[in-house]
Amino acid sequence: MSLTKNDFISKIKACTVHLTFDTTFHCNMECPICIANAGPKISKDKNIPTKDMEYYANQPNIGNILITGGEVSTLGLDYFRDAAFICADSGHQTVIKTNAKWVREENAADYADVIYQLSKKYNDIQILEKTKFANFGVDISVGKDHENSNEYALEFLTLLPDKNSKSFEYNLHFVASDYAEARNFQRNLESYGMRVNLKGYIVSPGCNVFGKITQLERIIKLGRARINNIGETPAPLAIKTTDDLLNQIMDRGRDTGKESVCLDFYPNGFVYLIDCDMNFLAGMRYKENNVPMDLEQIVIRLAENAYAKHLR
Ligand code: SF4
Repeated sequence: MSLTKNDFISKIKACTVHLTFDTTFHCNMECPICIANAGPKISKDKNIPTKDMEYYANQPNIGNILITGGEVSTLGLDYFRDAAFICADSGHQTVIKTNAKWVREENAADYADVIYQLSKKYNDIQILEKTKFANFGVDISVGKDHENSNEYALEFLTLLPDKNSKSFEYNLHFVASDYAEARNFQRNLESYGMRVNLKGYIVSPGCNVFGKITQLERIIKLGRARINNIGETPAPLAIKTTDDLLNQIMDRGRDTGKESVCLDFYPNGFVYLIDCDMNFLAGMRYKENNVPMDLEQIVIRLAENAYAKHLR
């Protein structure tokens, strides 16, 4: 063990904090690859209040913010708008993940307008200059495992007032077996002037599309992905020293080039310290007497919990 407990906690405390808001686990789809086990049967009653998101998005030392679920649009247009604006207006790179099924709703144009307004508002802000990410992006999963999401995503484009919005950042998630389809879809979007990132999911370690994909994530076997045997089984945690634990905690933030930790806020009022294999290294309630705790206090407490849990 090379670091003392205090040094370990100081290092975690100094990290940039990436925030994920799992706003709800309710979803209007029930995909076989869902790692969150989200679906229509999960109640919408438990969700993250947008006031809490505002509080944390504006704390010091934040990196980037992901608004996800479940499906955030099922919480209604006002929630969708507030969440997106609150996070993006905090000045941090923000991505909203949606399956875009709302394009078939009566007020689809209003949902599209939220995304359009934000993509315009943050047109010129380049937070991560190196990789040219915009400050606001939308992330839509496509492919056969996501219902008709290819059609939903294309229908979304028809709702935009400006079809040549180069400011738009569009991440496409797909599983590796859908690579050819996703590539065609990417070309289609780019013909509208969209910036498009392909973010492939590995399904089988032997898949030969790895080299062609610009960014690669992994489906970790969790939730329905595990039930349906889709994705990779994460390597067992091998934590023996403070360095091992530190590496595990900081792993997820490495691609941003900063020493980072990732916190995942859940709709049940808990916050978790996670790594990139979605290992839950520590967890706690983020409110005391219904008042959100300061992020620095949360990070310190989670670091202490992780230390106690893994290095006992
Ligand atoms: S993968 Fe996404 S769209 Fe599909 S059920 Fe899960 S949260 Fe919903």
